[in-house]
Amino acid sequence: MSRVWNFSAGPAALPLAVLERARDELTDWQGSGASVMEQSHRGKRFITMAAQAEADLRALLDIPADHAVLFLQGGATQQFAQIPMNLAGEGDSADYIDSGHWSAKAISEATPYVKVNVAASAKAAGYRQLPPRESWQLDPRAAYVHYTPNETIHGVEFPDVPEVGEVPLVADMSSNILSAPLDVRRFGLVYAGAQKNIGPSGLVLLIIRRDLLQRAGRPMARIFRYADHAAADSMLNTPNTWGWYLAGLTFQWLLAKGGLAAMGAANRAKADLLYASIDGSGGYYRNPVDPAARSRMNVPFTLHDSALDAPFLQESEAAGLLALKGHKAVGGMRASLYNAVPLEAVEALVAFMRDFATRHG
Ligand code: PMP
Repeated sequence: MSRVWNFSAGPAALPLAVLERARDELTDWQGSGASVMEQSHRGKRFITMAAQAEADLRALLDIPADHAVLFLQGGATQQFAQIPMNLAGEGDSADYIDSGHWSAKAISEATPYVKVNVAASAKAAGYRQLPPRESWQLDPRAAYVHYTPNETIHGVEFPDVPEVGEVPLVADMSSNILSAPLDVRRFGLVYAGAQKNIGPSGLVLLIIRRDLLQRAGRPMARIFRYADHAAADSMLNTPNTWGWYLAGLTFQWLLAKGGLAAMGAANRAKADLLYASIDGSGGYYRNPVDPAARSRMNVPFTLHDSALDAPFLQESEAAGLLALKGHKAVGGMRASLYNAVPLEAVEALVAFMRDFATRHG
């Protein structure tokens, strides 16, 4: 069997051990004679697995009892709308920090449901740095403050959780959840699409402070209401059973690897290696982001001559390095270094980059 080093931004690499286990039990899960996908979500087997996945996630992130965990569908994009629907009442406003492509999307999708106050923006700086905390125009009456701790396309990451006072902090952690320890107590709501650090697409994870479930929000169908999902243990309707199962296997894999402290150290080492290689290339490769705001998960870089982009992509793929093409919004290349990408993959990438620079000097 041949596996490539996969730098995809998402859907992204999954741990090989998780895929192998899923393969081994695909047709006969837990001796049931059927796959996990072919069984009722109301059955004892599935409910036990689902509860274990939640317990493992709680252990990994040390999630306090006053936060609920939801396994929902619709991706992070649906949450862009569902957050204001649930957390803001008629006439309320919410503060948004605009730090890149995905926070801008969150802002535009929230606009039909809440008065958006863009409290700070790095747009004028080309999203190459974070909006300095001192510049944020926060409103103490805001329903919540929304930000994007890691911008998947611009490769910008907040090094710390910002202090925002009493207003609930809402974070789109789609591309950096589970990449290092996190103090969940600092957040009103954390959400993440699964397809980077959790499992396959089609699943979105929410960690929400239970008192926020009681917010009146606005009249809406139950399927959009967090409180109803929480009361039904995320089984208000048929959940993404396959995604939930694979997420559970990923949580077990993370625990076996030593948890998030170990992941955090591994991710730091991977990112440091790649940034050092870019910065040490004498301008052959460049990363445009302010070093204080560089993402550990998504590393965009350009070649000194864009005519080399096509050969770089062709030769890297031939060398078994997959999905290095950058997002069209920023161009160039992007290497995503999520949990399932091992240090060996980054070592192979920097060796390739060095060799490419020598051959195409
Ligand atoms: N937020 C961030 C930070 C993302 O990286 C992405 C997807 N790449 C999204 C939101 C959108 O996620 P989805 O496609 O699951 O709606």
